[in-house]
Amino acid sequence: MQSPLKTTCCYCGVGCGILVHKDRQGKLQVEGDPDHPVNKGMLCSKGMNLHYTVMDTSDRLLYPEMRYHRNLPRQRVSWDQALERTAAVFASVIQKYGPDAVAFYASGQCLTEEYYVVNKLIKGFIGSNNIDTNSRLCMSSAVAAYKMALGEDAVPGTYEDIEKADCILVAGANPAWCHPILWRRVEAAKAANPQLKIIVSDPRVTQSCSIADLHLQINPGTDIVLHHAIGRVLIENGDVDARFIGAHTEGYLKYETSVMQRSITEAAAICGVEVSALYEAADWIGKADGFMSLWTMGLNQSAAGTHKNLSLINLHLITGHIGKPGSGPFSLTGQPNAMGGREVGGLSNLLPAHRLLSDPAHRREVQQFWGGTEISAKPGLTATEMFDALQDGRLKAIWIMCTNPLVSQPDVRFAEAALQKAKYVVVQEISSRPETLRYADVVLPAAAWTEKEGTMTNAERRISYLGKITDAPGEALPDAEIICRFAQKMGYKGFDYASMEDIYKEHVQLTAGTNIDISGLNYEILRAQRSVQWPYHNGKGTPRLFTDHRFYTGEGRAVIHSFGDDHRSEPLTPEWPLVLTTGRIRDQWHTMSKTGKVNKLKQHIDSAFLEIHRDDAAGRDIADGDMVTVTNQRGEVRVIARCCDTIKKGVVFLPMHWGKILNNDLHRANNLTSKRLDPVSKQPDFKFAAVQVTRY
Ligand code: SF4
Repeated sequence: MQSPLKTTCCYCGVGCGILVHKDRQGKLQVEGDPDHPVNKGMLCSKGMNLHYTVMDTSDRLLYPEMRYHRNLPRQRVSWDQALERTAAVFASVIQKYGPDAVAFYASGQCLTEEYYVVNKLIKGFIGSNNIDTNSRLCMSSAVAAYKMALGEDAVPGTYEDIEKADCILVAGANPAWCHPILWRRVEAAKAANPQLKIIVSDPRVTQSCSIADLHLQINPGTDIVLHHAIGRVLIENGDVDARFIGAHTEGYLKYETSVMQRSITEAAAICGVEVSALYEAADWIGKADGFMSLWTMGLNQSAAGTHKNLSLINLHLITGHIGKPGSGPFSLTGQPNAMGGREVGGLSNLLPAHRLLSDPAHRREVQQFWGGTEISAKPGLTATEMFDALQDGRLKAIWIMCTNPLVSQPDVRFAEAALQKAKYVVVQEISSRPETLRYADVVLPAAAWTEKEGTMTNAERRISYLGKITDAPGEALPDAEIICRFAQKMGYKGFDYASMEDIYKEHVQLTAGTNIDISGLNYEILRAQRSVQWPYHNGKGTPRLFTDHRFYTGEGRAVIHSFGDDHRSEPLTPEWPLVLTTGRIRDQWHTMSKTGKVNKLKQHIDSAFLEIHRDDAAGRDIADGDMVTVTNQRGEVRVIARCCDTIKKGVVFLPMHWGKILNNDLHRANNLTSKRLDPVSKQPDFKFAAVQVTRY
């Protein structure tokens, strides 16, 4: 056994360090890296079983495949054949319909270098901004809110703030299951300091509630009302920081007027919680020396996601709990490298290093650096808009890499029908399991975790290096290499990198002088230091931002935004009277392309289910374990009912992981979810769909 090789977990945005042991036969074992600052040796069930996803190659795509006609099966071809034909098809579509007739749909699981080259390819050479990622479904509302409030897409704090906080509000999240190792740190902080108050707001009683001092079991969609009510009590109690507000923010008076318009009694009734609970939460926040909030999809995946995020960030701005130890709004990134993707501009409205597509000077700067075509000012299609454009024929060809939209898109039957209308579908994947492969004209086998090198950035802006430890099976190639080979087949210059490190060097140059400056960073430093939090100056990373209380807005002041309740979700009706919310379970990851093949991970929960309150079930003659049908105007799902009293009455829950089993899509939660989008972030409303449930 050689000495362990260091890498980073490729699942969630916590970003745990992993030691990989490789024996002489190439067999792998993993353990948590005791020296890693994030996990200090711990791993969750998914991380502990990560090596099985690499060692079991039974599902791996080994060779490029292509079909020459929709009615013919795909057949094995060489890389040159696959990429030359794809280049010819893309060139022909672009010539006939323009560059906006093609699109790339990527993933928060791509490495930064992979994001960088695909973003450069389409924006800098093809001449379209049609690149988006599944991070649009995950984090975009938090991104929009950070930019509006703080002037930059930047998580202010660091995980160490957990140990320094004395009040933590967990809003619409279940980190005990979805960010387990981070939650171990919260549990340890609570054990070390019983005075630490933990508040959870969630329509469900989740594992995260087990250590909560207060569970605000709110009605779905009432987060803004809740946060505004807490804001009102903070003001009435004199628990706002007038000095901070006066010196470092703008918009406070309008906010005060706005939140005073609703009484606490009325807010409590709308939220479905006790008045006393609102006062208690506000009192703990108001008296805290360090107040931290943690949130994920409960706020983000909403048609009012940006305002939900802003309403929470406002609580930090009016109390001055930002830019100091133990304080700050902290969005928990779902995917391992959603942040790294944004650093290189890998969304349809961004340019590298958080430059703005809407700024002509930024476009010019990047175009001159890349030396390609003029960068279009027109924002590209976002994740769900791509499927609208396939449906109505504006988009002809789509390249899907490292994601499985036929499980993860909202209103997924619509997305599936749209994909069938595409003239040309490229799927770049590691596994034969994803449903999306059914519609691929070309399949490009990609290298997986440990089979390639690169970098990722976790939820606390921490950049980690991931080394190559094993060879990819068959002819699978690193994603960045596939994109660069394709770009060269298209005749574009500037993609003949000698290594991943060369790509990284180019990316960091573009960050020079920006708020996320890592121009002094390289692989050697990352290997030596293990990880670094951006920005990186004078040989040091930056654990905490805004310590001088100067924000990245024009005047340097954070902006306190005012708005109403903003409930934009679809209305409940007598026909569809229940709210469906969706989410993760502990041991599965996204659409199960990787975790679904690890038997140990099925021991926790092995099949889809519907969580429903006992009273709602009884009123429908449904008993625990009955097969039920969940329906609305978009589709249906048929699963076993789990009757409980831990979910709010009127609300039902489906896990989001399951897709098609053979041709049966009745476990697929997204048959029912809504395509309503937040108007700013364009993030879909996964957490609120009107449905009915009946016994099957
Ligand atoms: Fe991996 Fe996230 Fe688990 Fe850490 S908490 S081991 S990053 S899945």
